[in-house]
Amino acid sequence: NADTVSPPIMAVDGGYDWDGRWNHVRKFLERPGPFAHPDFEPCTESLQFLLEMCKILVIGAGGLGCELLKNLALSGFRLIHVVDMDTIDISNLNRQFLFRPKDVGRPKAEVAADFINNRIPGCKVVPHYKKIQDFDESFYRQFHIIVCGLDSIIARRWMNGMLISLLSYEDGVLDPSSIIPLIDGGTEGFKGNSRVILPGMTACIDCTLELYPPQINFPMCTIASMPRLPEHCIEYARILLWPKEKPFGETSLDGDNPEHIQWVFKKSIERAAEFHITGVTYRLTQGVVKRIIPAVASTNAVIAAACSLEVFKIASSAYIPLNNYLVFNDVDGLYTYTFEAERKENCSACSQVPQNLQFPPSAKLQEVLEYLMENASLQMKSPAITTTLEGKNKTLYLQVFNFTEHTHFFYLGLSDGQELAVADVTTPQTVLFKLNFTT
Ligand SMILES: [Zn+2]
Repeated sequence: NADTVSPPIMAVDGGYDWDGRWNHVRKFLERPGPFAHPDFEPCTESLQFLLEMCKILVIGAGGLGCELLKNLALSGFRLIHVVDMDTIDISNLNRQFLFRPKDVGRPKAEVAADFINNRIPGCKVVPHYKKIQDFDESFYRQFHIIVCGLDSIIARRWMNGMLISLLSYEDGVLDPSSIIPLIDGGTEGFKGNSRVILPGMTACIDCTLELYPPQINFPMCTIASMPRLPEHCIEYARILLWPKEKPFGETSLDGDNPEHIQWVFKKSIERAAEFHITGVTYRLTQGVVKRIIPAVASTNAVIAAACSLEVFKIASSAYIPLNNYLVFNDVDGLYTYTFEAERKENCSACSQVPQNLQFPPSAKLQEVLEYLMENASLQMKSPAITTTLEGKNKTLYLQVFNFTEHTHFFYLGLSDGQELAVADVTTPQTVLFKLNFTT
């Protein structure tokens, strides 16, 4: 048994590494195995690298973040930074297990870092109670691997764009040393996914944007005439009865107003009784109105474990990383599936290909804006458009000064082949488009 004969690791800083401390990790790094990477050579240096050199950034200290920090710290990673802009809410405590009732109101990143540092000797988690957008590329460049445990697609896309902006190309050839692998985890109720992104080499977040469709709603005919679920009854009260009966005048429905929810709840029960449907509760009513998807601790645990494993595989080079997308679902039984998401040739984030916009010369700027926001592979949120006209930069559209949206291209001075630079919250860089007139 090879692992029993390896020498004890020298205590590097104050005797943190007691005898046998990393035996569980050494089994993977110091002996060969059938699942090891073909180029893998068992050695002791890999563990030293994990313990002393490898710098990991964890984005998010919530449901996934707590699990990620715990897993990484117990796997031997010690130089970990964590970024989170949130404070702890009492409703987090059932699954975000690094937090206690006394911590409510404090920044998640700071409490999580303190907990890990106190519990796991030698670990140096550095917290950042900030937004990811508060840091520039020099901050991100210091890390070997970045792991995301986010619940926001905009933040994911921004992070993805940041790592793509760090890539350097020489004569069109990607410099591999400029790649920082991004491991992304996501969960929603009983469903989750884990993926490995090598920016510039494998499919990025924006390459597969169609996988994140906008909120799916129940078909209106079901809500209006043939409800089957308690949710259908609640949607009936919310969408059809509220604007018709105007219980609070012209006020729009506020999910945080208990009187509003109470009204929808009462109407939903009446509707449910009519169709012999059970299960309408106040809590469900609030959940449907506020679009709450319950967070499930076990889903977070599985996805964070899958992500941490990928970090370990890439950092140690001992095993072949996931290629490249794992889906997990335990709504009914248990299901996992892995597939290779493919790069999109004209991805607006990673392809380096100018994006074409096809519009007739008679179109208005409004049509461009709608396209940028509604196209499934762009899904921008509040695009700002600038261009260069007669050698001068000109802002065509900003949401706060939206007087140009109904203006035709002709009056804006836009011609065929015009380059438009679009800035949006989904990316740290501007995206270049080329306006092609159709006839
Ligand atoms: Zn891409």
